[in-house]
Amino acid sequence: MSGRTALVVGAGIGGLAAACALARAGWRVTVYEQARVLREVGAGLSIAPNAVRALEWLGFGPELRAKAQGQGIGVKTRSGRWMVRLTGADLEQRYGNPMFAMHRADLHRMLLDGAGSVTVHTGHQAIGVTTGPTGAQVGFTSDRGPVTAAAGCRRTRGARRRGRCRSS
Ligand SMILES: Cc1cc2nc3c(=O)[nH]c(=O)nc-3n(C[C@H](O)[C@H](O)[C@H](O)COP(=O)(O)OP(=O)(O)OC[C@H]3O[C@@H](n4cnc5c(N)ncnc54)[C@H](O)[C@@H]3O)c2cc1C
Repeated sequence: MSGRTALVVGAGIGGLAAACALARAGWRVTVYEQARVLREVGAGLSIAPNAVRALEWLGFGPELRAKAQGQGIGVKTRSGRWMVRLTGADLEQRYGNPMFAMHRADLHRMLLDGAGSVTVHTGHQAIGVTTGPTGAQVGFTSDRGPVTAAAGCRRTRGARRRGRCRSS
């Protein structure tokens, strides 16, 4: 661990992917999600080659390839003729990675299960952020009432005494 702390608001696809990346880089990460329960929501998503590369870097490559389906992309005229068409093989040749289709719920579950050391708090809705030279503070409403969390600070005794770096 690098000793650096990060706070991510929202345990969706972007939030969990960022949390996984920060954790992989050695940060201590806490994710706060407003939903009380993380449910299976959404429909099928196209995962573009650049996103596939990012997921590979995060270590999800084998799982992604096992669970997702290869996909191409294109645009048709109203009469059904292809104007532009790139097959999965074309995309892989051009961008170095394929494109996949996957249900959002499966992608979300993969990120959540792979988040490892990341702590996820549900039932926390962010209502305000303040930033300063020592880090950031985020205010939340939760079932426990108002909560403040901080990240980016070194949690020294002095910092806490001066009220600059608090954690819920
Ligand atoms: C119909 C549709 C089809 C799409 N198809 C594709 C596609 O094929 N390929 C693709 O790459 N993208 C697609 N997208 C976009 C894709 O869904 C988003 O890019 C992706 O989900 C963004 O991730 P996110 O984490 O920002 O948002 P989300 O996955 O929506 O997650 C946001 C999370 O933050 C939480 N949150 C919000 N506000 C707060 C707060 N104040 N406090 C705490 N938590 C909070 C929410 O509850 C939620 O869990 C599609 C979107 C839609 C609507």
